[in-house]
Amino acid sequence: MQKEYDVIVAGTGTGGSTVAREMTRRGKKVLLLEAGGRWEWMGSTMTIAMILKHCGLVRSREGRTVTFADNYGGLSNLAGGCAAPPPKSVFDPVGIDLAEEAGEAKKDLWIQKQPDELVGRENLRLVEVANSLGYHWGKMDKFVDPKRCRASGDCMLGCRTGAKWTARVYGDEAVSQGADLHLHTRITEVIVENNRVVGVKGTRRGVPVKYFGKFVVLSTGIDNAHILRRAGISRAGKGFCCDWLQFVGAEIPGMNTVGATPMSVGSLEFYESDGIAIIPVFPNWSMYAATLAMAGPKSLLNFPRFWKLSGIMVKVRDETAGELFQGVSFSKKVSEADRMKLDKGVDIIKKVFRKAGAKDSTILPLNPQGAHPSATCRIGDVVDRNLETEIDHLYCCDASVLPSSLGLPVMWTVVALGKRLGGHLAARIG
Ligand SMILES: Cc1cc2nc3c(=O)[nH]c(=O)nc-3n(C[C@H](O)[C@H](O)[C@H](O)COP(=O)(O)OP(=O)(O)OC[C@H]3O[C@@H](n4cnc5c(N)ncnc54)[C@H](O)[C@@H]3O)c2cc1C
Repeated sequence: MQKEYDVIVAGTGTGGSTVAREMTRRGKKVLLLEAGGRWEWMGSTMTIAMILKHCGLVRSREGRTVTFADNYGGLSNLAGGCAAPPPKSVFDPVGIDLAEEAGEAKKDLWIQKQPDELVGRENLRLVEVANSLGYHWGKMDKFVDPKRCRASGDCMLGCRTGAKWTARVYGDEAVSQGADLHLHTRITEVIVENNRVVGVKGTRRGVPVKYFGKFVVLSTGIDNAHILRRAGISRAGKGFCCDWLQFVGAEIPGMNTVGATPMSVGSLEFYESDGIAIIPVFPNWSMYAATLAMAGPKSLLNFPRFWKLSGIMVKVRDETAGELFQGVSFSKKVSEADRMKLDKGVDIIKKVFRKAGAKDSTILPLNPQGAHPSATCRIGDVVDRNLETEIDHLYCCDASVLPSSLGLPVMWTVVALGKRLGGHLAARIG
């Protein structure tokens, strides 16, 4: 006999954990299924290697890296802790107002600007230089509790002190409120009867498993599209976004940002007009080495410069294009329009570096890469405004439902979407 759940949630990233937590708070029976394990050793390069699929070296057919995680809490474990609210320009066109849920999320996720001593003098210097050029840089919001933060700069290595909010906070809360959590359980298919989902199928540590529930929420990131295709929704995964980003490093005399707090300052002044965000952050040494290696053996000569570099990133709203194929194979080009946005950002960054004292010969733009795949099961195309698919009781909730590229930190938006879906499901379950 199988237990029947009110809601089965596949995937424990930001989207999945939020829905699970919202449902258990309302007294519903929830099952959380997670393909990965629970990697606890945080604060090292090993964390990245163990959490990211293929150690972070997944590449598109065109050779661009994009990151996917297989672990309890998903990509939130590696996030820089930078927070941006759901942009109206992305959600107004699909008639969704996330203001209320975003306000709730702001409190839950400890979102606030950090004090100067945690932001650090290197970041503050970059702000001062950019503003002296007439730009409008300032502190970014972060989902970091300043009382627990040690300013070690290791946000993207997992955060050893627990100061950074991750999806595990909500996941653990759901479990403490009665949700069942099965790790090492990869969902591959949904079970459908008379166009209504009744459960999911997959493997747990390699052994076939089935689970039954009244509602199913897919929050598996890139796997959502594959699961939906197997259920006959063939347009899932056709066209997607990945928020192209480009890191630029430079040698500024007397400083480097190697140990600086990532993404604690920056500028969104060109976001509404050009879809560009500029935020100081740079890959850690191992990802830097991997990025150089992928650009060709000659690029590796730049590796010893790592400890002298200061880094700034431009991230852009990319066009919806490309396609996901089986597994982690996908195709996506940097379009002409994407390229122009990246170039505009790189130009601004170069101006800031020059003004800070860097010589042109030391400025090193790395190749563009995809931050993370999103918009594979878009609202208004694959899911409706309630995030339900054309199969009754089957929903998606994570970055896959974004109607278009965000070009911004994603988690605040995904939590807001998860809260909204929680309210909707609770009303439907009764
Ligand atoms: C290096 C880095 C830094 C970032 N920094 C920031 C930041 O500062 N601020 C910000 O807001 N965002 C940031 N992001 C982006 C953000 O972390 C993600 O966009 C967000 O966490 C995505 O959440 P999600 O729920 O959509 O998916 P994911 O986090 O990808 O979660 C998907 C989950 O599903 C599981 N799963 C996958 N397939 C299956 C399956 N078949 N069955 C069961 N489970 C499955 C995965 O293991 C994972 O737990 C960053 C991302 C990266 C890579």
